[in-house]
Amino acid sequence: MKTYDVIIIGAGAGGLKAASELHARNKSVLVIDMGNKPARKVAVSGGGKCNFTNMAADFTRYFGNNPHFVKSALAQYSPQDTLNWIKKHKIKYYEKEPGRFFCVNGANDIANALMKDIGNTEIKYNTTVNDVIRSGDAFLIKTDNGDFKSNGIIVASGGVSYPNLGVSNIGHIIAKKFGHKIGPIRPALCAIKTKCFDSELAGISLPVEIKIGKNIIRDDLLFTHFGIGGPAVYRATLFDRHDFIINFAPNTDIENVLLNAKRNNGKRNLTNVMADILPQKLARFICKNDTRNIADYTDLQIKEIAKRITQFEINDAKSIGLQSAEVTAGGVSVDKISSKTMESLLCPNLFFVGEVMDITGDLGGFNLQWAFSSGFVAGNNA
Ligand SMILES: Cc1cc2nc3c(=O)[nH]c(=O)nc-3n(C[C@H](O)[C@H](O)[C@H](O)COP(=O)(O)OP(=O)(O)OC[C@H]3O[C@@H](n4cnc5c(N)ncnc54)[C@H](O)[C@@H]3O)c2cc1C
Repeated sequence: MKTYDVIIIGAGAGGLKAASELHARNKSVLVIDMGNKPARKVAVSGGGKCNFTNMAADFTRYFGNNPHFVKSALAQYSPQDTLNWIKKHKIKYYEKEPGRFFCVNGANDIANALMKDIGNTEIKYNTTVNDVIRSGDAFLIKTDNGDFKSNGIIVASGGVSYPNLGVSNIGHIIAKKFGHKIGPIRPALCAIKTKCFDSELAGISLPVEIKIGKNIIRDDLLFTHFGIGGPAVYRATLFDRHDFIINFAPNTDIENVLLNAKRNNGKRNLTNVMADILPQKLARFICKNDTRNIADYTDLQIKEIAKRITQFEINDAKSIGLQSAEVTAGGVSVDKISSKTMESLLCPNLFFVGEVMDITGDLGGFNLQWAFSSGFVAGNNA
């Protein structure tokens, strides 16, 4: 049986980045993937346009037991390095918001560039890794398509969310086997279910501020048939809490607006006054379909209504589940992994890359940047 220098489990963004560095170092490499083509999550990312990096990537945009872990890898392969790589491959890109980059022609450009960089590296598709066994100084990788041997292993098998693309927990199984802890798994960057709103609000989108404990998120919220979604809510799910406080009019002193309207325009219906600031249906919902004129409310009642707009409390937030979450929070604990090399501190020549680890990036290109940075580092050290 041939002994490869390195076997990479997973042909996603992280695994392929590692493979390209190993290829550049003339290592003999085999990439194994259970799917039938490479970079399948990249292909669906960013609504098909792949938000491939974010210039704001630093440890404050990552979550997990120890977000400081990302510092070294981001320094070794930074968002600027990703952008330079995009330019080197002549991929057309655009900056949707300051520092946040997408592909003009679609995510496949990224997958193609990753594949170009790995040259003639061997890839076995439709091959599921079931186990890894230490065999002397080498590793025996057991798959449903035969056994393979290598001196080093890079586990780049991703998270367990978005299962319709084909996912597995093999990374967690391998990590556990070699003594690593696994941080509790949960869905993140996803919509939430809540009974706090009417389904007739579904489809309305507006900028909000969400307060979760001491953290404040400012972004857009989208009402859905089962609750709320949109970027603000996706980002809120990173905090693993059920209680949110939403401000539906973060840029307006709503209490002042309502009190002024009462004084100057008292015959206006309260809902209509609020609809100057909020979408009509949301204004009706907040007013509980009360049709009285604004002058009929006491100042105290107006204060309370303003509070419903600026401090709307949700206490039953429930994630919609791993099924449609963009990422898996939790995973292989980084406490026994070298942040400088991505090598296990418990088992020499065992490396981890990307989402399989207990590192979750914010919405906005941070997760792919993490896959690229950690893949680069592992590929240069394995
Ligand atoms: C809908 C959606 C949109 C997203 N949009 C963005 C975005 O715009 N920007 C961003 O930064 N992030 C985005 N993400 C997150 C990002 O795509 C992932 O964090 C990133 O791709 C993870 O890369 P990875 O290499 O760690 O794992 P993956 O890309 O998941 O790759 C893991 C690979 O391992 C293979 N594998 C798993 N188990 C086995 C096994 N037992 N045997 C063999 N192979 C196995 C899988 O088939 C897979 O190909 C999005 C995710 C989703 C689902």
